[in-house]
Amino acid sequence: GQAERNYAARNPASKAAHEEALTVMPGGNTRSVLYSRPFPICMNRGVGNQLFDLDGHQYLDMLGEMTAGVYGHSHEIIRHALISTFDNVGVNIGAHTRGEVKLASLLCERFPCIEQLRFCNSGTEANLYALAIARRVTGKRKVIAFRGGYHGGVIGFAHGVGENNVDPQDWVLGTYNDEEALRDLFEANCDDVAAVIVEGMQGSGGCLPASLSFLQKIQSYASTHGIVFILDEVMTSRLHPSGLQGKYGLRPDLTTLGKTIGGGLSIGAFGGRKDFLETCDPRQSTALPHSGTFNNNTLAMEAGYAGLSKIYTPEATIALNGLGDSLRMKLQAVTKATKIVVTGIGAVLSFHFMDNGVVPSCERDIEQHAIPMLRRLLWFWCIERGYWIAERGMLSLVMGTRMSDVDSFVVVVEHFIATH
Ligand code: PLP
Repeated sequence: GQAERNYAARNPASKAAHEEALTVMPGGNTRSVLYSRPFPICMNRGVGNQLFDLDGHQYLDMLGEMTAGVYGHSHEIIRHALISTFDNVGVNIGAHTRGEVKLASLLCERFPCIEQLRFCNSGTEANLYALAIARRVTGKRKVIAFRGGYHGGVIGFAHGVGENNVDPQDWVLGTYNDEEALRDLFEANCDDVAAVIVEGMQGSGGCLPASLSFLQKIQSYASTHGIVFILDEVMTSRLHPSGLQGKYGLRPDLTTLGKTIGGGLSIGAFGGRKDFLETCDPRQSTALPHSGTFNNNTLAMEAGYAGLSKIYTPEATIALNGLGDSLRMKLQAVTKATKIVVTGIGAVLSFHFMDNGVVPSCERDIEQHAIPMLRRLLWFWCIERGYWIAERGMLSLVMGTRMSDVDSFVVVVEHFIATH
């Protein structure tokens, strides 16, 4: 009530912008995750890790484009890569260029289980292609996924298989982190199942890390039953120089990437075992068709390469995630003995308000114990004080964020706790 009224009073220009947007887009929105009641804030500009809205407020960006925006909004190296590509190559010139080979080589080098890969335009597409490959190589159709998992707009599993899902009849859903149930899940379905797809940390599901043994069991059952193991690293690739597969020593058959690997531009990639990727080799008459117009768009290829080779290097990856670990530990210290629980890995984290104060490990825990109202109040509180976080409680740090930013944010959360 009051928080929402204050928000509306503080943001008249955003409100007007939303009203205009409502006339041409349902909900005034073209990306549902950005919608928030009573209306979303409309930004004017982002510079480094600062954001400026239409009403003249300034924010420290603690959300980093839902993890994709690791470089901030005006990094000089990304800017240079974009401008020089524009000037010297062209925007998308309908032919192979050197950019795609450079980025592909870098990714194959960095991710231990990617022998070969192909690009596409989003993480959603990457997962759809990985599933298509798995179906081709196994000749089977069903896919094991986990409730609360998110693999893209039409392959998300919050509250089960949504009716908007691609081929909803083909999913077999398990409970994330439930190791006991895994064996049965695989054994009961192995004759029809082509692939298992899993996030090493459920990102959209609330930054819930999987236990290593859960992931290892998936890998082992998949291998026993001839099921393709797809590790969705669209969000988690940024958590370690070689992704969670490198951090944990996992060996997925296929890996999907997106978000950070494009230097801030739209991108996706699916890669893994060479013998599996060969199903897309156009030299074969029976190859899977994979032909997106913008798959090798020059700007994303060059920005992605510049970003990973010059900015988000292995050293920078370790440093930023170390800063994230400090943030999480500091938040855990100030939220101790409250209903607030902070989850995540490295520089990607999330707040949960749990009536039992217990760390959630799967969607069911959240459904049974979360108090969304309090999380919403924290969101209003942070926004009003100039800290940009997601309404759903998610944070991801942007390069350029300093320990002093982390400390001042922790103080804001401490004040929230003291007054609520
Ligand atoms: N997979 C995971 C784990 C994600 O977090 C996301 C996006 O949030 C996707 C896939 C979909 O990627 P995109 O939004 O680029 O389609």
